[in-house]
Amino acid sequence: MNLTFLGTGSAEGHPNPFCRCRHCDDARRVGGKAIRYRCSALIDDEFLIDFGPDLNAASNTLGVPLNGVRYAAQTHPHEDHLYFGNFFNRSTHCLVEGAHHMQYTVSPVTAELFRDAARGWLREVDDPSRDHYPTLRADLVIHQDWDTIRLGPYTLLAIPANHAPELQAHIFGIRRDDGPALLWGTDTATMPDGIWERVRDEAWQFSVMVMDHNHGYRDASTVHHSSDSFVAEVARMRDVGVIDGETRVLATHFAHHSHPVPEDLAAFAAERGYEPAWDGMVVEV
Ligand SMILES: [Zn+2]
Ligand SMILES: [Zn+2]
Ligand SMILES: [Zn+2]
Repeated sequence: MNLTFLGTGSAEGHPNPFCRCRHCDDARRVGGKAIRYRCSALIDDEFLIDFGPDLNAASNTLGVPLNGVRYAAQTHPHEDHLYFGNFFNRSTHCLVEGAHHMQYTVSPVTAELFRDAARGWLREVDDPSRDHYPTLRADLVIHQDWDTIRLGPYTLLAIPANHAPELQAHIFGIRRDDGPALLWGTDTATMPDGIWERVRDEAWQFSVMVMDHNHGYRDASTVHHSSDSFVAEVARMRDVGVIDGETRVLATHFAHHSHPVPEDLAAFAAERGYEPAWDGMVVEV
């Protein structure tokens, strides 16, 4: 699989447009990789993770068209990960050419939010009673905690995140056919005991892992990792055996308040055994 990062910033993006801290000013001065949109990612040009609010800007800035999307997964419905206007933008109303009908896997909470929002956009042709939305080119596929979901050639494991439990946040194991597996691990804080053991027992081991790094050099919160908790989690995962010494370890979801410009962040991360992602980074899984 080919993973393209379409955003690596936290909820407010990096730089935060409203902030004049040294990290935000440095990012504005440096530009390029220092500018981070809100988190979304694309696998193989056809599988989208999260319909975030910066999808338009990321697609156009990075030159990554999204018409090929046939499958999608939503981690959770926080506003930095889910902007409903994206579905209108790819709908039949907009006379879009070359887009496909997609299977979109969501939690029950996200499904209810989608249905509510869709009522505002729909015409008579759609059929919300069976989560079938021809106008919006989407069928909802509901996932519960620990479900294994099949979307075309892709298999997903819906792992409950330690993040907004009332919103049923998930992180995902993702693999194509019997190929190597990716862990998409944002948003979350440190996992409760037993989670990685369960992932291992579900027969998942990851060649590439991407995980939340929201608080960087500051202290972790109850809903996001810091660098210290990130490093501790990676060690736990190695001990349990869901990753090994060959696994490529990547960080994302960087907040302005605790992340310097990319060159300095890369040096900080390298000392601790992992790599920061950037918008437009492409990783082979
Ligand atoms: Zn987030
Ligand atoms: Zn700032
Ligand atoms: Zn969140």
